[in-house]
Amino acid sequence: MDFARAIPGGRLPAMAEGTSINTVAVLGSGTMGAGIAQVCALAGCDVVLYDIDAALLDRALERIGKSLQKGVDKGKVAEAERDAALARIHTGVDLGAAASGADLVIEAVPEDLELKRRIFKEVAAAAPEALLGTNTSSLSITAIAADATRPERVIGMHFFNPVPVMKLLEVVVGQRTSAETTALARSFGERLGKEVVVVRDTPGFASSRLGICTAMEAIRMVEQEVASPADIDRAMVFGYGHPMGPLRLTDLVGLDVRMAIAEHLARTLDAPHFEPPALLQRMVAERKLGRKSGQGFYEWE
Ligand code: NAD
Repeated sequence: MDFARAIPGGRLPAMAEGTSINTVAVLGSGTMGAGIAQVCALAGCDVVLYDIDAALLDRALERIGKSLQKGVDKGKVAEAERDAALARIHTGVDLGAAASGADLVIEAVPEDLELKRRIFKEVAAAAPEALLGTNTSSLSITAIAADATRPERVIGMHFFNPVPVMKLLEVVVGQRTSAETTALARSFGERLGKEVVVVRDTPGFASSRLGICTAMEAIRMVEQEVASPADIDRAMVFGYGHPMGPLRLTDLVGLDVRMAIAEHLARTLDAPHFEPPALLQRMVAERKLGRKSGQGFYEWE
């Protein structure tokens, strides 16, 4: 990819600035969708949050309210900002209505290629000029864009959980994504206060590929009795400044979830270093899944 072309160093034409995005439709109001709606509203955008069921939307608004209140309690969000952000978020269960009028549509529906494709096809009809961002964590952007009428407007916008806290936004450039779309997504991410990295559409993007690689090696080191899980984690925390070691992170995410990603990367990148070590396979078979099951590389209450 020509990164220099995709990310012009100079000033972008007004059209290509993230500031030209005023209305955002967020599709899916789960863990990620609610967080994305919150940060967009805090950045001053009108937001339409869409889901298949009104009760889910009510619950999402409640979670957003609580999260904003947490920001107020910590002194990071002013009370007036909280109120203004909440007032900017509208909800709806009609996809076409939610998308029409949006400058940017960000989908955060379940990780299912057919579902995402279908949604983007429908959205493209309702909002032909909108930029279409997908929050997929593992699917190909190029494949998601396959049925969109304007694949050059489709881009990966991979946020991290919890969205209001995590600084990274991975902008993933599909084979047919245009340079203008990339520039828009990048500047919009910066407007949200995110640190933006631009990555070519390849399995695992940058974040999962590096994170899973480190985790698999750390598990192999436990297997080979190089050091205890706690000391392997401490090596990365105190030697490299990571906020958390790879084994503790694996416990938090879930050993089964990380194993599935590792298998996917081993297959798609044809890279044996992503193959899940026997220890990980055994722990998953024994339902030692990390925090959610009470036992992983650490014991959890
Ligand atoms: P989630 O299950 O919490 O939320 C998904 C939401 O989509 C639900 O509210 C569900 O009702 C809704 N939904 C289901 N079918 C729908 C449809 N046809 N149309 C519209 N909405 C529909 O999932 P999540 O964890 O928020 O993940 C969403 C996306 O974000 C996935 O692609 C996932 O891979 C990605 N992602 C997740 C994380 C994470 O840590 N959870 C991190 C980065 C990216």
